[in-house]
Amino acid sequence: KADLVMVYHRLPYEEVIEDGKVIRRPPSSPNGILPTLLSFFGGDQPGSWVAWSIHDPRQREAFEVHTKVDAENYPNLVAARVALSKNDVDVFYKRFSKEAFWPTLHTFWERAVFREEDWAVFLKVNRLFAERTAAEAAEGAVVWLHDYNLWMVPAFLRPLRPDLNIAFFHHTYFPSADVFNVLPWRREIIGSLLQCDYIGFHIPRQAENFVDVVRGVAPIEVLEEKGCAPRYLTYGCAVGLDRMTTRISVHGRPIGLGAHPVGLDVGRVKSVIDTDDCQQQIVELREQLKGVRVVLSVERLDYTKGTHAKLLAFEALLEAHPELIGKVTLITICVPAAREMTVYAELLSQIEQAVGRINGQFSRVGWTPVQFFYRAVPFNELIAYYLMADVMWITPLRDGLNLVAKEYVATQGLCGGNGVLVLSEFAGAAAELHGALLTNPHDPHDLRDTLYIGLTLGKAEREARLKELFGVVQHNDIKRWGDEFLEGVKHARAMALEHL
Ligand code: UDP
Repeated sequence: KADLVMVYHRLPYEEVIEDGKVIRRPPSSPNGILPTLLSFFGGDQPGSWVAWSIHDPRQREAFEVHTKVDAENYPNLVAARVALSKNDVDVFYKRFSKEAFWPTLHTFWERAVFREEDWAVFLKVNRLFAERTAAEAAEGAVVWLHDYNLWMVPAFLRPLRPDLNIAFFHHTYFPSADVFNVLPWRREIIGSLLQCDYIGFHIPRQAENFVDVVRGVAPIEVLEEKGCAPRYLTYGCAVGLDRMTTRISVHGRPIGLGAHPVGLDVGRVKSVIDTDDCQQQIVELREQLKGVRVVLSVERLDYTKGTHAKLLAFEALLEAHPELIGKVTLITICVPAAREMTVYAELLSQIEQAVGRINGQFSRVGWTPVQFFYRAVPFNELIAYYLMADVMWITPLRDGLNLVAKEYVATQGLCGGNGVLVLSEFAGAAAELHGALLTNPHDPHDLRDTLYIGLTLGKAEREARLKELFGVVQHNDIKRWGDEFLEGVKHARAMALEHL
């Protein structure tokens, strides 16, 4: 039985079947969360990682619930699989989470589609996760649940295992009560989260939004609130806040709350920069982009990311500042979304039309204003783009955090660059990344004018800003995120025992 149970929507490795054999390899994503979570299983204590796996009942082999994740590096860790059908996964993960919860959490509630039959599948999957977790956990174990896909797990888990120390980290933006309350199942969801001992968010604003939602659902007693740590911007950005509630009690149950912005493994970024492959990419890009200043945008295709508004602002910039024509190129890397999602198809065509119009109007021989790449770029190549970018232009209309902003800062900082980060004040990272030029992506003039400021900042100011930013990214790294979260979990438990 495990003393620490990680409950994540997927396994910490990729499984592919080659020549009829299951091959496991580390995830190709540069995202450091999975390696960091795995690092907590390096010791002697037994651990378990609960995740779903598709089980096709037509397969003759029995479904293996337990497998070793990595016998060499993590001998005491087992993967415990929750067997789901392909249909369950499609409904729970691809359809319901993305169509009902994702838009609402990002304040695009008018796009949300609420289907009662999907909620039933969501409940079933969450119940299966809870049952598997209950079977894995040792007496008093810490259970670490991840993100809104697993919102209902605490509701099922708590009655099965009152002894567990249940902690939840919310990776996605958490909206204000006015928005969250649109969800037809808000009472059930909040009731479930209130079964946790500790809940973490990226930034204080999101934690405070949660507290406000709880206030509308159940009588709440605030046991402790604190001024925000100086590492958060307190004023001047849409998601900033100067205080946050750190402990509440609802129906006599104390719950700890924390703000833990996910960070990077800066050492990993450094090791990618040092590879021959990455250095080669840098040389090639430098040659291709000779003579132009580069504004870079990197995001998934998603209406929350503000790509279309950004293109319109770039068009307005070229109209307002014709001296930039031929001198500044916007490179937009957009990671494709699942093909079956029609809402993304409309967005893509809107973006492509804007790119076509801008390039049609402003292109010159040897210069294209917008280079639009609709594909996922491998991390080592992405690093080369980060290094080439004079301005990183990140303009989500709403974002839980935004790791791309941190990756840009890390790359520039590690390579002695002095690039400018222009960041939406509606991204969680804006509350943390002192030194960024903040922009309001809902205001076309502000988008255009802040980009212009970014392009025209003097060297000394660019250097000072980057230094400050790099300091934050180095300090709030992924290790600190994980360590501080688990510290918060333990502290909340100790306080709760005292409270009894
Ligand atoms: N990313 C990538 N290739 C790309 C574009 C993005 O590997 O072509 C990675 C990027 O390095 C970052 C992640 O995708 O780690 C995006 O994370 P972020 O928090 O910025 O946004 P999310 O997609 O999670 O909303």
